[in-house]
Amino acid sequence: MSQKECPSCALEVAQDADECPYCQYEFPDDPGNISYFIILLMIGLLLLWMLF
Ligand SMILES: [Zn+2]
Repeated sequence: MSQKECPSCALEVAQDADECPYCQYEFPDDPGNISYFIILLMIGLLLLWMLF
């Protein structure tokens, strides 16, 4: 099932929930996108470093 654990109250909430229905903890927006961007940036820098 697509559920995640609330870091504030440790209860299971829906994976796509923006905030916890129990304690109103707000989940951060798409943290995966930021890491994906950083990985792309690192690969780009590595390629530049290898070329020059
Ligand atoms: Zn909660």
